[in-house]
Amino acid sequence: MQIPIAKPFIGEEEKQAVVQVLSSGQLSQGPKVAEFEKLFAAYQGAKHGIATSNGTTALMAAMMAHHIGPGDEVIIPSFSFFATASCVLSVGARAVFADIDPDTFCLSPAATEAAITPRTKAIMPVHLYGQPADMSAFEAICKKHGLVLLEDAAQAHGASIGDRRVGTWGTASFSFYPTKNMTTTEGGMVLTNDDETARHLRMIRAQGMNTQYYHEVVGYNFRMTDMAAAIGVVQLGRLPEWTANRIKNATHYNAHIKSVKTPPVLAGNTHVYHQYTVRVPDGVDRDAVTKRLNERGIGVRVYYPLPIHKQPVFQQMDGYKDVDLPETDKATRQVFSLPVFPSLTEAERDYVVQEINAAC
Ligand SMILES: *Cc1c(COP(=O)(O)O)cnc(C)c1O
Repeated sequence: MQIPIAKPFIGEEEKQAVVQVLSSGQLSQGPKVAEFEKLFAAYQGAKHGIATSNGTTALMAAMMAHHIGPGDEVIIPSFSFFATASCVLSVGARAVFADIDPDTFCLSPAATEAAITPRTKAIMPVHLYGQPADMSAFEAICKKHGLVLLEDAAQAHGASIGDRRVGTWGTASFSFYPTKNMTTTEGGMVLTNDDETARHLRMIRAQGMNTQYYHEVVGYNFRMTDMAAAIGVVQLGRLPEWTANRIKNATHYNAHIKSVKTPPVLAGNTHVYHQYTVRVPDGVDRDAVTKRLNERGIGVRVYYPLPIHKQPVFQQMDGYKDVDLPETDKATRQVFSLPVFPSLTEAERDYVVQEINAAC
């Protein structure tokens, strides 16, 4: 068997939707983008959706909309995809890394509060692998210290805490890259409940224009195409079933995998398993396990093998050599992710369980 780590799906409806847009002549920032923004914001439960060219530009726009810049610090996890940090650098602010909770792999509220300085402007937890970060704790910390609350929700379409979906606590960025839980090929979206933040985001996304050819702020071209939005509208319709299948696959893994630590979920939370990530026991050589599984045809992957603060680009900057994040370091040495995509077959799932249980 050959089982990839992800299997993006594009059906006939997506293809037809793209052809319709191409024939319509309205190709960018047109009616399909507006429709997709409305539908996605409503799905997550936020007031406004501002579509962007990708998840990275969504994060950059969120930083700019809150006037984060030189002299400001933003507290983020180091155990994430690099874009979580590059958006902070892109506006000239300083990335301050706090450690993670070893069970959820998300930013630890206690470690975050300990990292606050007079220069701290914002906190941005990541809903890593589709597991919600502890948003009520982060909301309380931000209120207490007067900080902006942001969310990197690039991996967490549909994830929820109780009956409230992520992306509704702070200004939140999503990604629609092909391997994410739903795709627009490339694409992103910022969600906010705040009218003024939404107005500012719309300007930043399109050349800083308030009305056509009147430029109120410095803006960029972060626009989504209508072909991408048309794919997104169809994919959003498929998302509930895909999420249910991801959860079904994960529940099966939770019940049958014995050799490694399966991902715990806090009671009342919905984890949407962008990744199903396990941890090898202390003393087990993770790289030997993943190598063996790859050789057996299972596309397991390590997200992420090197913490962001240890990346060469940060090591060349002042002040990052002594950053000490023991749980982050340990996670990068112990985790790996298994195929959990919605169309995984029962036979594939059983094969994964059998091989994992034999691997260590
Ligand atoms: C994918 C991802 C991004 C960036 O999204 P792109 O659409 O690839 O630019 C940012 N943060 C996290 C956590 C991601 O997984």
